Amino acid sequence: MERQIRRAAVIGSGVMGASIAAHLANVGIPCLLLDIVPSQLTEEEKRKGLTLDSNEVRNRLAVNAIKKLKKNKPAPLYDEDLASLITPGNIEDDLERIKEVDWVVEVIVENLSIKKQLFERVEKVWEKGIIVSSNTSGISINAMVDGRSTEFKQHFLGTHFFNPPRYMKLLEIIPGDETLTEIVAVMRPFCENKLGKGVVIAKDTPNFIANRIGAYSMHVTLNEMLAKGYTIEEIDACTGPAIGRPKSATFRTLDIVGLDTFVHIANNMYEKVSDEAEKKVFKVPEILQQMVDKGWIGEKAEQGFYKKVKNEKGKKILSLNVQTMEYEPQKKIAGASLEAAKMAKGAKQKLRALFSSEDRYAELAWNTLKEVLLYSAEKVGEIADSIVEIDEAMKWGFNWELGPFETWDAIGLEKSVHRMEKEGSSVPQWVKDWIEAGNTSFYKRKEGTTYFVSNDAYKQLEPNPKVISLRTLKEQNKVIKANSGASLIDLEDGIACLEFHSPNNAIGADILMMIEESIKEVRSNYDGLVIANQGRNFCVGANLMMLLMEAQDEEWDEVEHIIRLFQNTMYHLKRFEKPVIAAPHRMTLGGGVEVCLPADRVVASAETYYGLVEAGVGLIPAGGGCKELISRLSLTVTNPEVDLQPYVNKIFETLGMAKVSTSALDAKKLGYLREQDTVVVHQDHLLFEAKQAALRLVQEDNATKPEEDIRVVGSEGKALMQLGAYQMKLAGYISDHDQLIANKLAHVLAGGDVPAGTRVSEQYMLDLEREAFLSLCGEPKTRQRMQYMLSKGKPLRN
Ligand code: NAD
Repeated sequence: MERQIRRAAVIGSGVMGASIAAHLANVGIPCLLLDIVPSQLTEEEKRKGLTLDSNEVRNRLAVNAIKKLKKNKPAPLYDEDLASLITPGNIEDDLERIKEVDWVVEVIVENLSIKKQLFERVEKVWEKGIIVSSNTSGISINAMVDGRSTEFKQHFLGTHFFNPPRYMKLLEIIPGDETLTEIVAVMRPFCENKLGKGVVIAKDTPNFIANRIGAYSMHVTLNEMLAKGYTIEEIDACTGPAIGRPKSATFRTLDIVGLDTFVHIANNMYEKVSDEAEKKVFKVPEILQQMVDKGWIGEKAEQGFYKKVKNEKGKKILSLNVQTMEYEPQKKIAGASLEAAKMAKGAKQKLRALFSSEDRYAELAWNTLKEVLLYSAEKVGEIADSIVEIDEAMKWGFNWELGPFETWDAIGLEKSVHRMEKEGSSVPQWVKDWIEAGNTSFYKRKEGTTYFVSNDAYKQLEPNPKVISLRTLKEQNKVIKANSGASLIDLEDGIACLEFHSPNNAIGADILMMIEESIKEVRSNYDGLVIANQGRNFCVGANLMMLLMEAQDEEWDEVEHIIRLFQNTMYHLKRFEKPVIAAPHRMTLGGGVEVCLPADRVVASAETYYGLVEAGVGLIPAGGGCKELISRLSLTVTNPEVDLQPYVNKIFETLGMAKVSTSALDAKKLGYLREQDTVVVHQDHLLFEAKQAALRLVQEDNATKPEEDIRVVGSEGKALMQLGAYQMKLAGYISDHDQLIANKLAHVLAGGDVPAGTRVSEQYMLDLEREAFLSLCGEPKTRQRMQYMLSKGKPLRN
């Protein structure tokens, strides 16, 4: 099918509609955002003399929703300015305008008859070719278009985003009985490649995949709590990170989702499932209904299973005692199994550690998990084609580290099935047959390929050419060189990838050494280098612990040696005659940014939180960070008549305030990324796109990277910046120590005490950075900041 999605219309501007529109804007798709026309004027509208016929009133819901997008946290937009791509309107005056778009997505209240009425109206103005979808959480796709024409039904499907759409990876696509395969063939790659989502094809069954299994899991847990008298804290301790699930575990998640919403979903499930045993699980427990009746529905009402209270000592979170229905101080939960899980690394090991004990917590985790595994196995085929969709849906929609079948493999398939049967559970026949046939897991990996069980046989998981996995390449013996902190891996086609894998990917001597080694290796045997990794974050900076230890011992020669090593390595990377691409993702801070700055191109994941944050730990960037930003400025503003000062002031402010971007686009706005640096929306495609960028540069053959002389603002500019810092101090915005750091930073960014317009060498700038850095390391308050960051993970403003 030829049709591409270039423009869209979102109907419904509530929580989900507005943020879906925002995500479309994020990826450059203009969209209409339509909602109902208000039936009453607000007081303010009356004061302004508006009437119900005024445009401002008629579009009020969508207009306000767009305004809210700019304030919501976490930010739905990559950059506030993108809101201009969303045009507000209403369904009375503007429904006709859906003719201008390629895709209409309905995001209105979860009510079958209201949705049906809307689609009836949409069809009246709809033209063949326009794709129409619903974001319903669980209403039947077929039922919603019952009564519509065959052609309309052929263009209709479910596109179920998870909240918040920008951040949640999962998007369930649910074809209806009559949806054309061509329509799914347009939407799937669009949602993956353009919107950056992890698409799972679901069947048109109640609540589709993730909410079906997720809700089941919640109910089983709730029922277990009520039957065995566990407390809220006990349940959350056993159903969060201990089993590879998010910290919000069961009850924090319920408070966030809203107990009213949860009850609504549960009742929907209760009505729709016919199996009696299943019905019993989805029956809303009395206590939940009582809480909803009292209005204790979670975060929206500021109380649910948890309640935040303020007293003279600050904020405190109380938890509900479900026996007495009183809020009480939280109790610490400790047990051998939980301790063992805490010590273990990764979900697989945690689960194994947890089940190696037999205390009450291991029992709770087992009893709830067992039911979810069995339920998932029962539902394969009914809600999804294979176990893969179920696992992916739970990982991408509920942030579980392992899906149910991966969990089952992790705890040992045979052993656990044996235990389930011993305890009287009914294990689906296909699982028993699979084990009977001599298989010991649902998945297996062989030479970098994954196989999964499908219709009683192992089937190969089709690799996606846009997803390059470093883990797979390592399994295929593609490691060229490695040490404790980093590896150089062959990406094929003449490109090598330098991967960091130290703790938190912090940069220490091992990584610096591997960068030098990579340059040598690529110089002799490859055409280009990509610096990327697939850890949680790209790099959180230099190894602060090592630096703090040297500074505390006053080993100044050693500190100087480390900085010199960092500077020299970055310098070599910058001068390297072959293309270098840096591909950061998520947190990329301090030294992590400094590794990207010398690259010819940065290919950044859209979700990159990028910043030179050294001031937060009492320092200034000294791995070439200051020099690079000033040098770029001098390269872009080539006319010597143009005053550099306003631009340098902006850099001063960004570094002085340790600003971190909220997205890669924001990093461009902050001046950390350049025009030629690109953004990749789907994080799993980052390495592929970085490799393509390297291959393109190989073709361009830009071998010469001459030494730069840098125009600086000198002592006058420095005085201006320092004056700014002085005024901030006087106004009480910054501390004495902030001012001291700012003064040093101003000195470096200005190029020291030289006349304005002087041209200085890169090495000169690096020397300024190093001197300032060293002197700050000698400051007790800087060391306090480092210590605080290491122990608390956040900056200290002393
Ligand atoms: P919401 O209550 O925040 O917003 C609903 C919006 O629909 C409101 O702006 C309302 O004015 C508008 N609306 C009502 N009737 C309308 C009509 N006839 N025509 C046009 N607009 C109309 O709800 P929400 O949370 O954004 O949910 C919307 C849809 O998305 C539902 O189907 C819901 O199940 C689904 N969903 C919600 C979430 C979530 O976490 N909130 C997640 C996934 C899917």
